[in-house]
Amino acid sequence: MKLKDKVVAITGAGQGIGRALAFAFAERGADVALLDISEDGLKATRDACAALGVRAEAFQANVAVEDAVEAAFDEVVARFGRLDGLVNNAGITRDALLVKVRNGEVVDRMSAAQWQAVIDVNLTGVFFCARAAAERMVTLRNGGVIVNISSIARDGNIGQTNYSAAKAGVVAMTATWGKELAQHGIRTGAIAPGFTATDILASVKPETLDKLVAPISLKRLAEPAEIAHAVLFVFENDYFTGRCIEVDGGLSF
Ligand code: NAD
Repeated sequence: MKLKDKVVAITGAGQGIGRALAFAFAERGADVALLDISEDGLKATRDACAALGVRAEAFQANVAVEDAVEAAFDEVVARFGRLDGLVNNAGITRDALLVKVRNGEVVDRMSAAQWQAVIDVNLTGVFFCARAAAERMVTLRNGGVIVNISSIARDGNIGQTNYSAAKAGVVAMTATWGKELAQHGIRTGAIAPGFTATDILASVKPETLDKLVAPISLKRLAEPAEIAHAVLFVFENDYFTGRCIEVDGGLSF
């Protein structure tokens, strides 16, 4: 897909990787529809994209709420008149061990609320947004690309039962939609980032960060723009669909 003058929706565009995605698409000349729950974050991303000379509009919406997603995508199509791409990037963490054991006694466990919050945003939210986007792309008959942000945690990560399950599910949905939607000119892809320098890691202690970086061949975190670059690859390569690309600096445990 040539990105100039296309319309790409990005969820979680208020900061971090989502903001870097918005800049990357804007730099390629695409107009961007920015979705997030954070009004301030949206405004900052929108203004910075507009300064790059493209049309950028903000849509405050919670991806985990079906009606809000439907309304937001109706509004995107009403305002832009087309929809060529979606990046499902919004995500949260609520880390906890399945069961926390001290001296042989179970002292804590992942709560149902922790489980559900992450599944709602990181899995159901991806489903709601992709369904809304695919329906409109088919109706508009312009084809499109849907990229989902997974994670290296999709293979299982201590303290992240909820997050790992959602991120594995995202890869499965990417493969499913790649098969289902090809006939409508819609391609899919997933990106599994490694540890990336955003606020999602802000609560991690420096000594823990050092441990995270040690098994990375390139010995540093990813920059958000490096993850965005992989998303652009999926958009621009017309022979790519259904697969997941790891961008993790050569992480090995
Ligand atoms: P971040 O916390 O910096 O930004 C996430 C954005 O999503 C925020 O602007 C937030 O307001 C928005 N958001 C949260 N819940 C939402 C909801 N229900 N509806 C709409 N918007 C919502 O996170 P990030 O590091 O930029 O991560 C972006 C994506 O990349 C996530 O899916 C995350 O799981 C994934 N990821 C991040 C890393 C990393 O190390 N940073 C690694 C692998 C995967």
